[in-house]
Amino acid sequence: MNKNSDDGERINLLGMTRQRLESFFVGIKEKPFRAKQIMQWIHHRGIIDFNEMSDMSLKLRKTLSQIAEIRLPMVVDERKSADGTRKWLIETSGGGVVESVLIPSGNRATLCVSSQVGCSLDCSFCSTGKQGFQTDLSSAEIVGQLWLANKSFDVFQSGKGRMVTNVVLMGMGEPLLNFDNVVSAMNLMMDDLGYGISKRRVTLSTAGVVPQLDRLSRESDVSLAISLHAPNDHLRSQLVPINRKYPIAELLSSARRYLSSLNDINRRVTIEYILIAGVNDQLEHAIELSKLLKSFPCKINLIPFNPFPGSIYSRPSKRAISRFWKTLVDAGLIVTIRATRGDDIDAACGQLVGRVIDRTQRSTRYDKTNINPVNLRNSL
Ligand code: SAH
Repeated sequence: MNKNSDDGERINLLGMTRQRLESFFVGIKEKPFRAKQIMQWIHHRGIIDFNEMSDMSLKLRKTLSQIAEIRLPMVVDERKSADGTRKWLIETSGGGVVESVLIPSGNRATLCVSSQVGCSLDCSFCSTGKQGFQTDLSSAEIVGQLWLANKSFDVFQSGKGRMVTNVVLMGMGEPLLNFDNVVSAMNLMMDDLGYGISKRRVTLSTAGVVPQLDRLSRESDVSLAISLHAPNDHLRSQLVPINRKYPIAELLSSARRYLSSLNDINRRVTIEYILIAGVNDQLEHAIELSKLLKSFPCKINLIPFNPFPGSIYSRPSKRAISRFWKTLVDAGLIVTIRATRGDDIDAACGQLVGRVIDRTQRSTRYDKTNINPVNLRNSL
């Protein structure tokens, strides 16, 4: 264990891609294959203490402990829902707090990962947006959420394989506005020497930052989800303000370009559509949406609005939700309704706010659970 892991002077190897690690080792006059070895230790075996890396010479281990570290983000709270969902509150190096949620379902386990502390986009239905933007997460803080989720299930030691099968960048933040760190972290998630998750099972969700989406098509081939939420620009601009800059037609063209860059006719964009009572859930909206997406290669995921304190919206009735769903299905679209999970621990979509905002009020922060801050790095 690195005792001085907070001194900020050592280079953190946790979030480095294979390529960056190779350059790092070449830079210290070591062979590039060291990258492979260290990645297996960190991401396959969960080992973060250089002293335990037995296939490296003592001399190299000593050098590494002097100049580098494997620094995980700090877990300040972990909650378990009755339905198996788990949520971690993670403090970032800048002091802000993000959340990461694991949703088990059959033989899948999907980890919902955060990419920023807060968010600058201020979508009217989203609690994260209400706190504004604070900071970007580093690549290590993004991939660290996956490491921590695996660790909490003890998969590293037990050799039970990997716990997390799917990753969605649908936690806090707009991933395309933290482009470089998000792309590095996703590459590491997909690398066999990292977590080996297939590109189809890593999904980036965006509210529609068009220039960055175009850049993504040149640099990545992960699955794409678009937060659409409205069938026309007038309504969408009220719900998702970035629509005023990049309207629906531009966003869908960019998403199409992204899909064609994948060179695989079987891949589709996921269209996320929050259903908000009386706002975007009427028959006319469903009809307009089905026309808009009729020839767009997508599957639609309807998300019943999840309320949070202070929100002005409410969730439609079950009847209204199924009526909306049926209108789209009858128009020939592929549509699913997202089940709400982890409601009892505020882990549902749009309910992620970090909650722990003021560092000076640490003693009052855990009133819900009475869990003391746990520095996982110290407890390993
Ligand atoms: N900024 C990205 C990723 C974060 S939001 C994006 O906009 O896609 C992830 C998903 O949760 C989005 O589809 C978002 O619209 C949805 N969401 C946000 N607030 C919600 C709420 N209150 N109820 C249900 N879904 C919500």
